[in-house]
Order: sequence, then structure tokens, then C-alpha cells
Amino acid sequence: MGRETVPIALIKGDGIGVDVCEAALRVIDAAGDVCGNAPLSYREIKAGANYYRSTGRDIEPGGEAAAGECAAIFLGAIGLPSVRHADGTEISPHLRLRDRYQLYAGVRPVRAYPNIPRRLSDPRAADIDLVILRESTEGLFYSAAVHGRSASCDDNAVEDTLRITRTTTEKLHRFGFQLAARRKQEGRPGLLTCVDKANVFASMAFFRRIFDEVAGEFPGVTLGYNYVDAQALDLVRKPWEFDVLVTENMFGDILSDLAGGLVGGMGMAACAEIGDTTGLFQPAHGSAPDIMGQDMANPLAAILSGAMMLDYLGERLTDSLLAEAAALIQDAVRRGFNENRLRPVEFGGDMGTGMVTDEVVSLLKAP
Ligand code: ATP
Repeated sequence: MGRETVPIALIKGDGIGVDVCEAALRVIDAAGDVCGNAPLSYREIKAGANYYRSTGRDIEPGGEAAAGECAAIFLGAIGLPSVRHADGTEISPHLRLRDRYQLYAGVRPVRAYPNIPRRLSDPRAADIDLVILRESTEGLFYSAAVHGRSASCDDNAVEDTLRITRTTTEKLHRFGFQLAARRKQEGRPGLLTCVDKANVFASMAFFRRIFDEVAGEFPGVTLGYNYVDAQALDLVRKPWEFDVLVTENMFGDILSDLAGGLVGGMGMAACAEIGDTTGLFQPAHGSAPDIMGQDMANPLAAILSGAMMLDYLGERLTDSLLAEAAALIQDAVRRGFNENRLRPVEFGGDMGTGMVTDEVVSLLKAP
């Protein structure tokens, strides 16, 4: 009998999504060979702008349900600016996956690595190591066009709704506190900052009130508060002072791109979207059509998202070998930059998608 595998739903999507997905799978499988964890098997699901262009559907029939039957979902990138619905919005079936599986906790680590050109001249920028926790099912994205929930759609006015619910917000904040507590154990400050606009919007005051309620359960975590506009400023002025930031969906969308820029670019921006029953893992960047098909995409965001998936699976399936494989990949990337063996084109280096992937695989095999 063959060994039991861990089934993963695989959506490669569009543009560089396809290349970085393939790179991540190579690394995940190589880490599995080294650690001896249960191998992953992939159920590929067709979705995205190219699929829409040729079929009129944004995801294959039954694809949404099939994704939820696997242990996790891995996604490359979805959408192309040249393929749009009549209202001008892009093809976004992944937003329905977030909604359907209530993937409320969008975890976006932002970490500086050595030998990547610094965007900030202050030497403390070398210490940037924070996580943006972006709520990913409601907030202003509650009325993302793909859900068809906008209030009035005529030529005079269109209203979108920013929705904050107690159930989701309690879960989100609890997730944030647990993350800050776990990071504290690993030597980080254990500081959770609530980023909102509680001085203007009732929804945001509610978001902050629930933050304060949940805080009582986690006395070991230090609390911080920031309005989102001040947070944008502080992310440029003193990002090294932050640990975990918890925020509404749209704010998190914008701040995580800003933060990604601080540590190099979107090619390092990994992302996990976690719900109660499954998780979706994808690089936080899009399909980057300007560089697709040129072996120029930095696959590290996807590779690090793969490590986050292994870490998640390790915890869910109580399989320490999967968690070891995750740590091995993270360590290989860290060591690769330390030793200047990873030099992606994105940062002016000489290594395209294939070469970066090859190098990570060799770093895994020779720790
Ligand atoms: P979305 O709206 O889906 O986030 P987008 O097309 O607006 O996507 P991205 O695809 O995230 O934005 O990319 C913005 C720019 O960053 C791209 O044009 C590309 O030049 C660069 N970029 C993004 N991802 C990578 C990567 N993995 N490697 C190198 N450059 C990247």
C-alpha cells in the first residue's frame, strides 16, 4: 500500500501565478523528501481570468466545493487587467472561496532579509519583523463586486457596505492575540496593535470595542492602538516598533502592500488565509502581467506561503514532520539571503524564477 498523502487543492491561476506555484510545489516536495513528512498530493482546479476568457466561467464547475474537500488550498494568482466583467471589475473567484470557507484570518508576515536593497535608510530597517493580520471576509470587501451585494447600481450612485460582525471580529482578535503570544514565546515583543478608524466610523469603534473585550483573555500580550492613517505614516517612520497589527479587510489590503514595499517588494509577500475548517495559501502579489512568461518573477513569496501551509497542516494534523518541513524552508530562505546565494531579478540580482527555486532546493538539501 502506498503512503497516505495530504490532499491539496491547487489553483495556479493567471500570469506569474502559474510559475510561482510550480516553484513552490518543487520546494515543498523537496522539503518533504528531506524531512520524511507525509507527501502532499494535488487536485488541480482551473480558475481565473484565462479560464474565464475561454469558458465564460471564473472557476471550473464544482471547483469551489472540491477546494473545500482538501486539507488546504494553494493558489498562485488570479486576475488579468485585460479580462474584466462588464462593470470593470476583474475576475475574482478566490474572493468567493474566502467567503464560502470564511477564511477570516489573513496572515501576512513582513520581514527584512539581508542583502535585499533597503527602501529605508535607517539601520533599524534591518530589524523589521511584523505581521499584518487582515480580516479577509467582511469589512469593505463584504460588498466586493463578485458577491453582488452593492446597494444601488445605477448611473447616479453606487454604495458599498463596510460590515463588521461580532462573530468574525471576536475570532479575528482571538487569532491575533494567540499569534502575538506565540511570537512572544519566540522572542518578539508580544505586542498586538488594533488598527482602525474608531474616531470616525461606528463600525470601527465596534471593531475596537471587541478588541478590548477579547484582550481580557490574554494578559500576557501588550496592547497598542493606531488609526489607519497614522499607521500608514508609522509604517514608513518606524516599522521596526511593530509586532502584530490587526485590521479591517480593506485597510489590511492597502497596508500590506505598503509593508511589502518596505522589505523589498511584493515578491517576498507571503500570505495565509485561515478559517475554521480550511486555509488558503497564496503569495500576496497579483498575476503581474508586466513580467509574466519571462522567468523574472520572484517565487519566494509563493515558496514562503508554501511553508506557511506546511506549518498550518502540521498543527492541524498534529504532524511534527510537516512543521519541520516548514521550518526547513524558512531557514533555507533566511540562509540563502544571509550568504547572498539568493539574488532575485526583482532586487536587481541575476537569478530568475528557475534559478531562485533551484537554489532554495539545494539549500534545503545541504543545511
Ligand atoms: P493585484 O491587484 O491582484 O494585487 P496587481 O497586478 O495590481 O495585482 P501585482 O501583481 O501584485 O499587482 O504586482 C505589482 C507589481 O509588482 C507588478 O507589476 C510587478 O512588477 C511586481 N511584482 C509583483 N509580484 C512580483 C514577483 N513575484 N516578482 C517580481 N515582481 C513582482
